[in-house]
Amino acid sequence: MQKHKLWINGQWVEGSGGTMLIEDPATGNKIAEVVDANRADVDRAVKAAHQAFYDGRWSKKTPAERSFALWKLADLLQDHIEEFARVESENTGKPYAMVSLGGDLPFAIDNLRFFAAAARDTHGNHAGEYMSGLTSIFRREPVGVVGQIAPWNYPVMMAVWKIGPALAAGCTIVLKPAPGTPLTTLMLGELIAEAGIPDGVVNIVSGGNDTGQAIVEHPDIRMVSLTGSTATGKKIMRTAADTLKRVHLELGGKAPFIVFDDADVETVAAIASMTATINTGQDCTAATRLYVESSQVEQVKEAVVEAMRGVKVGLPFEDGVQMGPLISGAQRERVMGYVDRARASGAKVLLGGAVPKDTPGGGYYYAPTVIADADQKSEIIQSEVFGPVLTINTFRTEEEALYLGNDVLYGLAASVWTRDIGRAMRLSRDLEFGTVWINDHIPLTSETPHGGFKQSGFGKDLSAEAVGDYQITKHVMIKNA
Ligand code: NAD
Repeated sequence: MQKHKLWINGQWVEGSGGTMLIEDPATGNKIAEVVDANRADVDRAVKAAHQAFYDGRWSKKTPAERSFALWKLADLLQDHIEEFARVESENTGKPYAMVSLGGDLPFAIDNLRFFAAAARDTHGNHAGEYMSGLTSIFRREPVGVVGQIAPWNYPVMMAVWKIGPALAAGCTIVLKPAPGTPLTTLMLGELIAEAGIPDGVVNIVSGGNDTGQAIVEHPDIRMVSLTGSTATGKKIMRTAADTLKRVHLELGGKAPFIVFDDADVETVAAIASMTATINTGQDCTAATRLYVESSQVEQVKEAVVEAMRGVKVGLPFEDGVQMGPLISGAQRERVMGYVDRARASGAKVLLGGAVPKDTPGGGYYYAPTVIADADQKSEIIQSEVFGPVLTINTFRTEEEALYLGNDVLYGLAASVWTRDIGRAMRLSRDLEFGTVWINDHIPLTSETPHGGFKQSGFGKDLSAEAVGDYQITKHVMIKNA
């Protein structure tokens, strides 16, 4: 079994606390041992990042130099794409060909190239005379040392979404992957060094929630960016208040998928099933709540159940596999609990709702599941399940569709399916979600801002806005007369 250390100040260092075993969720086998970083380890990483920030080895490089290193990192990741995709699939159970190699890694590489370009963007750098005799300059300064805390659903992609904009802005970093999925993030350490990003600029500490807590409490960290659950976001915001850190929170979602009777049923079924089961539904923008205009509900139900039944579930390295296991035994228990309670409270399970009989490899599989007629206020509609589970409910009017779509605490992503352009425009304005798709669901690009409304958090990942989140505007005023 491979043993990993911590990546601090450009080298592998032993941890001073305990260790954790890392599992392959497709088989339950233990595949690696990593450090469970303690406070002393976090302090070492912060010291390295602090020194690297204040001596200017990264923050005082020109944007062109930062851009070049980020671009080189993208090239290196491209050179190692198969190795990263393989380890990502071993650590998460994701389908290797369709998701790790076909989706996550190419997107992460593109993200790095985008942030390499964004590092050189001059937007927002104004100068002018706003009072006679004085020139004002608005400088965009890096925030400083940032703590970045990632979830387990897209380990390497989330690591890149975090480090890309922070590095473009000139910050230095202490990055913590999720407790169970640190392998590809740790692998980034050596590539970061090879790309010419100086020692101490990116420090990677594996560990559990206490490691994250130590990062958030550390007085030398100026900002914490979390991608994780809403509950963790609230905790981090409370803790960050003590040292008045900036917080950047990409939290949970519960995306509505609103289907009017002029939408094409087959397309709706194909995209709903794909986006409810991609990454085994462990996606904050996954389609979760289908609301269908009542006149069309029976056809949509039938087509969605057929499409969900057709999703190929299997081992991550099997040909043509579309859906792997859930991330852990605990996650499967969670998903099962939600579905069982929905069933017990009278909702109809139209498909799935159980562990598949011939579970491949002994992993944490759960069948694609469709649930109809759950109460709008029930847990299965209101809570983030984070599994391959789709609910179907009906509406009669556009107003009702809007009300039902918005009627959750979350506000990350939503989609509307209609050919009526006026209706599409009204709903895209009135749905309180950070992304609204019309006649599609789930695509994101490096240029498009991604982030929440309401309890899905605030701050943006991806896009030039993300770089801005890692900067502070400084006003410099110079007497010119
Ligand atoms: P989680 O909140 O349990 O953990 C996320 C990270 O926070 C982990 O690294 C964890 O160790 C750390 N953490 C936990 N408690 C902490 C504390 N008190 N202080 C500091 N760090 C702490 O989330 P998860 O289960 O790993 O990920 C799934 C969640 O992430 C879902 O809710 C999902 O919607 C969300 N997510 C959101 C986005 C987005 O872009 N909005 C993207 C992916 C995932």
